[in-house]
Amino acid sequence: MKFDLSKRKCGVWDLDNTLLRDTHPDGFCFADHYLRAFADMARVTFPTLSDEDILHYREIGYTRLGASFLGFDEVAKDYGYDFDAIHDALHERVNLLWFERIIQNHPDRIRPCPDTVSLFESLSGHLRHGCLTHASIKNWGKPVLERLDIVRFFGPILGMPDYDFMSKHLSTRGLKKILDLMNADPRESFFVEDTIRNLEKAKDLDSSLLTVLVHHGRPPDRLPSCVDIAVENPKILLSALHEAHMSAKPRSTLSTRPIVPEMA
Ligand SMILES: [Mg+2]
Repeated sequence: MKFDLSKRKCGVWDLDNTLLRDTHPDGFCFADHYLRAFADMARVTFPTLSDEDILHYREIGYTRLGASFLGFDEVAKDYGYDFDAIHDALHERVNLLWFERIIQNHPDRIRPCPDTVSLFESLSGHLRHGCLTHASIKNWGKPVLERLDIVRFFGPILGMPDYDFMSKHLSTRGLKKILDLMNADPRESFFVEDTIRNLEKAKDLDSSLLTVLVHHGRPPDRLPSCVDIAVENPKILLSALHEAHMSAKPRSTLSTRPIVPEMA
């Protein structure tokens, strides 16, 4: 199946491992630093927990609820905390520790890709963008988009607290909210993610929403039916959108087959 990208005018983008590549060829990995920041937050908040306990609750949170810190629900009760009252603070704290860790030790790892920035720029009059992330907007989302030099191209930027901590793989609440805020028609929109289960859930909201998987050089062997398009990186998608919107000829389409990587 081919998709006419010239009809797609609104894009909803995930941030981590989508706009910001997570694992790099030299082994650097943002997620590793997130996990260290997470452990730092957990040790301070719940000082009796062992490292094994922290891993256990983190796994529960991520696997079942889509966010690591949500696994501390029961533990918080044992400490006498009202988890609903503190989970915002835990979420902000771990994101702040993560950002500080990166900026102090690896500041050059979040830097603009000039081609991507100029593609966003050239599509400004044709496309509108929103960012839907599980991260904190204040302590991770906006600072990262600023350092990537693309924050100005985004309208709504929503973090998990903005959609009641309902993970993208469990609920369409966040996606619906951002599409509503953008006044976007799903038939004219696309959703870009690195996580297949999030794209699968998005199809529950509206099957006409174009789903795009970013795989950073590691495409799945077989594309699940919930993925309309797979690309190696955002630049390839933006290039195809650019061609589609700028060209009068209707040849600017992407096939459902993973695209051969064309850049590092
Ligand atoms: Mg992601």
